[in-house]
Amino acid sequence: MGEFDLIERWFTRTPRRSPLGVGDDCALLQPRPGQQLAVSTDMLVEGRHFLSTVQPRRLGHKALAVNLSDLAACGAQPLAFTLALSMPRVDEHFLEGFAGGLWALADQAGIELVGGDTTAGPLTISITVFGEVPAGQALLRSGARPGDDIWVSGRLGDARLALEAFRGRVALDGEGWTQTRRAMECPQPRCALGVELRGVAHSAIDVSDGLIGDLRHVLQRSGVGAVIEEQLLPRSACVASQALDLQRVCLLTGGDDYELLFTASPQKRPQVMRAAERSETPVTRIGTIQVEPGLLVWDGSGCSVSLNSFQAFDHFAA
Ligand SMILES: [Mg+2]
Repeated sequence: MGEFDLIERWFTRTPRRSPLGVGDDCALLQPRPGQQLAVSTDMLVEGRHFLSTVQPRRLGHKALAVNLSDLAACGAQPLAFTLALSMPRVDEHFLEGFAGGLWALADQAGIELVGGDTTAGPLTISITVFGEVPAGQALLRSGARPGDDIWVSGRLGDARLALEAFRGRVALDGEGWTQTRRAMECPQPRCALGVELRGVAHSAIDVSDGLIGDLRHVLQRSGVGAVIEEQLLPRSACVASQALDLQRVCLLTGGDDYELLFTASPQKRPQVMRAAERSETPVTRIGTIQVEPGLLVWDGSGCSVSLNSFQAFDHFAA
């Protein structure tokens, strides 16, 4: 099977959002009047971003989900995406599952595949997503203000706990393993919450590299500091049942959570709760933005947790 047959068979279909679709040399995107185009790219490499044991369908889902999560962080409504896929050979079983997971999430998000490329090479997936947001209303990392509440959606740490189990560092029971593995392989992008937070949140980011690392991006860009209360961090019963050190690794540096971390004025608490209800997404208040720079995490007894051993994930760190 050649490249064009492959695209025809798995990555071409009648567009549901006319006139978007695959087939011409370029995708032509027209944001509606008064809207800005929001664009983000993420790349997934086998062995680095996903394990070879992952089901192809889940991989198709996750490849798109991590990109949609970036649109969610900006409060952008998803529009379309492109896919660049490199793989060692044409594996029909893999492509069937991968395309199935990809299209299912694309339909859920109401978006079309509008272009891309395939080539032979190591298994690598690169997706670019396009969204739209009313001009000037995108949620940015730079908008946090002293006194803001700090919120996070969903819960933290499940994906990291599954990774630790894969590495053989912790043993999970059947239910815990199923649930944490689903969190790692099937993250749900928080697009609806992101859209609802326009005009409510002062700043936002998605938690992809771990709470501490991603919060630090917000603090640096906003020129502020923060205090986080460790016992407020939302966690599953499975994470909560682990030893404290492991819980901290999962909650503070976990990564792959794809939850939204955002700040909003305390006066906006009713609006935040309404945004959570309308998007059917749980949110939890975990701390406060401070004037003084730096990040402090208070444990339950009022002592600060040393963060020296907790670093955000960095692909090029030694
Ligand atoms: Mg991001």
